[in-house]
Amino acid sequence: MSFALHGIAVAQGIAIGRAHLFSQTTLEVTHYVVTPENRPAELQRFDQAILEVSLELKELEHQIPPGAPAEMAAFLELHRLILKDDMLARVPKQRIQQQGCNAEWALKQQLDLLITQFEQMEDPYLRQRRDDIWQVGERLLKALMGQPAPSLPPHSEAANSILVAHDLSPADMVLFKQHPFQSFITDLGGATSHTAILARSLGIPSIMALHHAWEMIREGEILIVDGMAGVVIVNPDTQILTEYRLRQEQWHLERQKLKRLRSTPATTLDGTPIELLANIEMPDDIDAVKKNGARGIGLFRTEFLFMNRHDLPSEEEQFHAYRRVAESLRGLPVTIRTLDIGADKPVEASNIASTLNPALGLRAIRYCLSEPHIFMSQIRAILRASHFGEVQLLIPMLSNRHELTQALALIEQAKHELTHEGLPFNPALPIGGMIEVPAAALALPLFLDLLDFLSIGTNDLIQYTLAIDRTDDTVAHLFDPLHPAVLSLIAHTIKTAHKAGKPVAVCGEMAGNPVLTRLLLGFGLREFSMHPAHLPEVKQVILRTGLSDLASPVKRILSTYDPDKLEEAVIRLNN
Ligand code: PEP
Ligand code: MG
Repeated sequence: MSFALHGIAVAQGIAIGRAHLFSQTTLEVTHYVVTPENRPAELQRFDQAILEVSLELKELEHQIPPGAPAEMAAFLELHRLILKDDMLARVPKQRIQQQGCNAEWALKQQLDLLITQFEQMEDPYLRQRRDDIWQVGERLLKALMGQPAPSLPPHSEAANSILVAHDLSPADMVLFKQHPFQSFITDLGGATSHTAILARSLGIPSIMALHHAWEMIREGEILIVDGMAGVVIVNPDTQILTEYRLRQEQWHLERQKLKRLRSTPATTLDGTPIELLANIEMPDDIDAVKKNGARGIGLFRTEFLFMNRHDLPSEEEQFHAYRRVAESLRGLPVTIRTLDIGADKPVEASNIASTLNPALGLRAIRYCLSEPHIFMSQIRAILRASHFGEVQLLIPMLSNRHELTQALALIEQAKHELTHEGLPFNPALPIGGMIEVPAAALALPLFLDLLDFLSIGTNDLIQYTLAIDRTDDTVAHLFDPLHPAVLSLIAHTIKTAHKAGKPVAVCGEMAGNPVLTRLLLGFGLREFSMHPAHLPEVKQVILRTGLSDLASPVKRILSTYDPDKLEEAVIRLNN
């Protein structure tokens, strides 16, 4: 049976392929009744899973390579102790007996309870053990469900597959960078969630907020993903399939044509040069930066170096990553943003307790100032890399002046240390601040005198101005870059920065949306930082734009409060 599902288009393009259902173990836990006569067998099944996991952990211990850090063995030993503890080995069995439920359900309930208890612990060391319990619990669940391996298809099949997931974390997406799927679709998520941003960075069509795709689509079914319209067609008939194959070809042809703009300077019709910079997550992304002709890096989201691992990257490891990017950009600016973890970017090795509103909690600069040793090792690594290229340092989520003065004091301290140690760095390293909290945009004089440049993070600026969680699919339709409050904060920030003689860029997703390019140019923006794949399209708009034509329509847009009229005015601006 053919049917269509509608969601939010997050990355453009058309994909046609077979569905591959990506399952996170915890999502699949079903609940069923186990009759009294079957309970002994259910208990035995649970004991068998414990035994399997204990053997698995022993086996892993044997595989530890010589010279590996001592923590690795200690970590496995801890997992074996957790596995043996009554809270995992005995309590779920009591639940099976008392509630007459299946082993997976009993275990999942116990895990949820333990996680909540550990999250509430005062002691940060104990709080961190939450992740260990979760990992052991997941192993146990997988053993119970007879599904030990993660559910990614082999590389050869991935190229023809469309990944269908209930939800994907930013960390999952980083792993998929090495696993080239045709497309991703998910039930949850919003267009500017970090998962969506990474999906775009892969340059493959993707749709989010489909709500029920994971339940309704079956493994191996043919899917069409229309990344422009945000539509997934399941089991299309031959006529629709032919039509979409044609559209797919046209799309590729257009992309090819745009690639010819790679080395054309981004200049408006009246000769004003515009800086087009790239956003990256990992040093490997520099290939895409070069392919698309970016004039530097406007945002290096360093937190991705901290994901998919249990430990923190050392100063040395970070230094090598930053130096590699700085050197390969050969004199072009490289803006390295300090760690922005928290909210939808959890990092296993951090001890951020989960809270009800993580986006309003210990995130970005707030986290860094609460963990000065982690912040310091990153600052030192960035400073050291500044000796090898045009490095700039960017501080995210500023909302108070004291956050900035504290960060600047730590940077000064790092400079002293490095000088003392005889390690070279650029003493005039430019320091910028991200404007992504409305309070910061409204009170720019709090920061302007202390900073060399600003960068507007529109993803968070919209999230915090409109009170719309950028990761929540249920309110994703309300995430509106054209809301008058958002537009006036952006226009005000650009104008104020220029008045103070400070360069200002936009590095949120608005910068890579060609529909908004003229509007931002009209606000006075001259620096755009976006995922490299969006660069040619934005450049094409710039090449066709005369700045003098923008002044009066943009002024009118800024005083329009009727949403329909506003949308119309933006369409007119683009024609
Ligand atoms: C933003 O908020 O717009 C931004 C660029 O930062 P991030 O998307 O990483 O939060
Ligand atoms: Mg942000």
